[in-house]
Amino acid sequence: MPRYRVQVRDWSRRDLILTDTPNPNCPDCRGEGGHNHDYGDYETGEYAGTEWEPCSCWDEDRHWVLLTLPRLHRRQTPEPWGGYSDEPPF
Ligand SMILES: [Zn+2]
Repeated sequence: MPRYRVQVRDWSRRDLILTDTPNPNCPDCRGEGGHNHDYGDYETGEYAGTEWEPCSCWDEDRHWVLLTLPRLHRRQTPEPWGGYSDEPPF
C-alpha cells in the first residue's frame, strides 16, 4: 500500500512533489527505502563501487510534481558603489 507524502524536492529547481515513501516498518530496509550493495569488478573481483537498490516496499519513480516553486532569496541588494539590481522589487 503506497504511502504518499508531499515533499519539497530541491534539485535543479524547487518542486513540490507528491511521492511514494518507504514503509517505516519494512523488515527489509527498516524504513530506509533501499539497500547499498557493494559490487566488485567482474574481472578482478575487487571492490568497484556501491550501488543503491531501492526496496520493493515503495516506488521512488512514483511521484508527481504538484507545483514548481520560485527560487527564494533571489532579491539582490544594491551594490554600495552605485550598482543596481535588475530584479523587480517585491
Ligand atoms: Zn523496504
